[in-house]
Amino acid sequence: MDTTEILKSLISIDSRFDRSNKKIVDHINNLLNKFECQVFKVDDAEVDIYNLIVKIPGIKNDNPLVFVGHTDTVLIGEGWETSPFDPVEKEKKIYGLGSSDMKAGLASMISAILKIKDKPNQDIYLIFDCDEEFGGKGGLDVVKKFSLENARVIIPEPTGEKIILGQKGCIDLEIQTSGKAIHASLASPEKNQILNANYKAIRICNALIEHEKKIFGRPEGEYGSPTLSISYVCGGTGAANVLSDKCIIRLGRRLTPSENLNEVYEEMEKIILKADPEAKIKKLFWGDSYGTKKEGIFVQNIKKLADEFFPNNEFGIKYGWTEASLFSKWGETVIFGPGEDSMCHKKNEYCKIENLEKFTELCKRLIENA
Ligand SMILES: [Zn+2]
Repeated sequence: MDTTEILKSLISIDSRFDRSNKKIVDHINNLLNKFECQVFKVDDAEVDIYNLIVKIPGIKNDNPLVFVGHTDTVLIGEGWETSPFDPVEKEKKIYGLGSSDMKAGLASMISAILKIKDKPNQDIYLIFDCDEEFGGKGGLDVVKKFSLENARVIIPEPTGEKIILGQKGCIDLEIQTSGKAIHASLASPEKNQILNANYKAIRICNALIEHEKKIFGRPEGEYGSPTLSISYVCGGTGAANVLSDKCIIRLGRRLTPSENLNEVYEEMEKIILKADPEAKIKKLFWGDSYGTKKEGIFVQNIKKLADEFFPNNEFGIKYGWTEASLFSKWGETVIFGPGEDSMCHKKNEYCKIENLEKFTELCKRLIENA
């Protein structure tokens, strides 16, 4: 099977994040069964989802080369002109759900390793995980059960010829304030401060808005400033004449690489509890930032190959969080892949065949020079 055929076979298997990915994992396992394949069931997931780790032993094992990709796709949006699971080749593009994000990357990983004839110089790992588009349980399960040191990691997510070297960290919180639903005719300014959950939430929001102004003035190169946004506030019983018994605030805090996740959380916790000592704080999402240096040997190798195959390539960073942060603990990590970043989570998603083939060749060369 050539790379295009592999991509088509992956698209034709429904692996939306809300269902089991067993079929696509079995299919990849079959394609790569001449190597050491291990399938792990992901712990604590609502549906049966699996990670697959494939190892190709090298002559040496002190600087492994690791490819990581997610097998799941988003759900089907409105407006598809073709069937999302029926890959269509048109104008040198392959259309289908997940074609860019990121089955093209998976197809390149698979096709490149199948083309290798000699034993690689270093151990090669291909990691196929899951639940990346929803809760991120797949990536977390990989790093919980498996670990590498001094590795070089490439994640072929769709980057549209950009070599991504870092991303912001993320803390998403939910805060709940509590009060008493007494009749509004019995209220006073003092009683509202003590008994009205909305007043407590407003105190918290005001304190956080002051904090937002402070952190926004600390930009860090191309990452820009840390940010804090109150994204959701909802409180009260719905009645105009009853004090609020409960108010929910949700916020997103984005961190630059020099900021420490725990320190930032503690700082926010202090601000929230000072405004309302009884507020309950729940972590909705929690993920570190990462930054790989341009001067690194691995990055420079990729840059050289990218210059050959994708002359318009450039370095960049990502503002949104991806699981690259998890794998960056293993070593130099780069996000770079054949798909179109503009096609992620869009109707009529496609991948250019030319980029797919060029990227496969790039992966093959990376493995040959490992
Ligand atoms: Zn993706």
